[in-house]
Amino acid sequence: MFRAILVEKTDSGQEAKVATLAEAQLPEGDVLLRVERSTVNYKDALAITGRSPVIRRFPMVPGIDGAGEVLESTHPAFRRGDRALVNGYGVGEAHFGCLAERARLKGDWLVRTPAAFTAAQAMAIGTAGYTAMLCVMALERHDLAPEKGEVLVTGAAGGVGSVAVAILARLGYRVVASTGRPSEAEYLKGLGAGEVVERAALATPGKPLQKERWAGVVDCVGGVTLANACAATRYRGAVAACGLAGGMDFPATVAPFILRGVTLIGIDSVMAPMDERREAWERLARDLEPRKLAAMTREIGLGEVVAAAPEVLAGKVRGRLVVDPSR
Ligand code: NDP
Repeated sequence: MFRAILVEKTDSGQEAKVATLAEAQLPEGDVLLRVERSTVNYKDALAITGRSPVIRRFPMVPGIDGAGEVLESTHPAFRRGDRALVNGYGVGEAHFGCLAERARLKGDWLVRTPAAFTAAQAMAIGTAGYTAMLCVMALERHDLAPEKGEVLVTGAAGGVGSVAVAILARLGYRVVASTGRPSEAEYLKGLGAGEVVERAALATPGKPLQKERWAGVVDCVGGVTLANACAATRYRGAVAACGLAGGMDFPATVAPFILRGVTLIGIDSVMAPMDERREAWERLARDLEPRKLAAMTREIGLGEVVAAAPEVLAGKVRGRLVVDPSR
């Protein structure tokens, strides 16, 4: 028997609680993982609260990320005792996830945990941090380099934003961090931001073409913020759009794309190909200082997860929440 967060349908919607499950209740898969650490991503918070229809099958164990030790495996690439992690692939949405002490998964979904990271550090990164790295890699493929100019990170004090700021600063970029929490300015500067700007400055509709400022953008917010980010991106610059914390819409014009050759790059972490995932994790091991991970992380037990979910959605959590399922 093991403990897990279980989300069940009720007459009024859905309910999430800590439950005790048997291994026999786990779905099919060729690897059984002892989950040492999981995390609460924005998407997990949506799943736990039911704020968006993230869960595609009930009952469901949420948790799109997990890291731990292989207990059983019939997959050729993994053996008992291996350290592995999973991000996405519908885990915690359509397949029982990792906010649990055990998860049965497909070996094809697993990445070896880099030697540089403990399970707790890997989950301090989690889908948020791995997505931040996918954004950086995508911008680099569009020739972003530190000498090209400043990089804007929106939703900077959140999980994706915090890791993006830390990586970009380490790579030598001048990072401008946009946040709705001015009280987090020192935190963001500690991660390496060269300047912190108020979220409000990007949140009101602006002109289709604005003064060229950003060589690159990592956008976690969407909506008017993304439209303004594109409008102020420099000639042939690129914008990596990965989030919707401020809205799903995109009230923009084509002007930045057709007059300045700006590229808008969509980032999806859930079904990203395995070679890109491995590259992202290798890059994280190289380009993210573990000291900065500690500054952006708070650890909670499984029993605190349900209460933490609305806090995440309210944008009140700084950086990343790591979950120890054994407590
Ligand atoms: P967090 O909750 O950790 O951070 C989101 C941040 O967005 C908040 O900290 C806040 O930053 C900002 N924010 C929140 N509400 C608003 C608002 N109404 N208007 C403007 N800014 C707001 O989430 P994550 O960092 O984990 O995820 C960020 C986004 O990226 C989410 O939308 C998530 O769904 C998405 N995502 C997408 C992935 C993909 O595969 N494409 C993978 C992972 C995440 P601040 O306080 O600094 O302003």
